[in-house]
Amino acid sequence: MTAIERPLPVQEGPVGRFHELLSTGALHLQWCEACARWLYPAREQCGASADHELVWRATSGRGRLFSWTTTHQALHPAFAPEVPYVTALVELDEGPRIVGRLVGVDPGSVALNRPVRLEPTTVAGVAIVSWSVGSP
Ligand SMILES: [Zn+2]
Repeated sequence: MTAIERPLPVQEGPVGRFHELLSTGALHLQWCEACARWLYPAREQCGASADHELVWRATSGRGRLFSWTTTHQALHPAFAPEVPYVTALVELDEGPRIVGRLVGVDPGSVALNRPVRLEPTTVAGVAIVSWSVGSP
């Protein structure tokens, strides 16, 4: 029997660079100098200024739980062994909100504004955003 492969993010262009930088253990986001703002998800150009000169900046990797959803029924068979799991929207200390899996926590104990920190995981060689409960 062949294992079901998990769908993975595209590994090209800005999204590929995002995951490549994440593999270093730090969360980097694009920054638009013209607008002085963070961009997420990664893209070719700023949607506000159309600036292509975006720079990658490291973030603290720390934030607070802004929202979340708990998956009880996997929509793809590769995720079935992992349910229930929590997908979190984290508001970084720097401001942008980033999606990732909340790991190492009982889904029933998740609480709004709970401090979290980046805990990147690697799946099939690709670094994925994950969060763990931590102190600010
Ligand atoms: Zn801009």
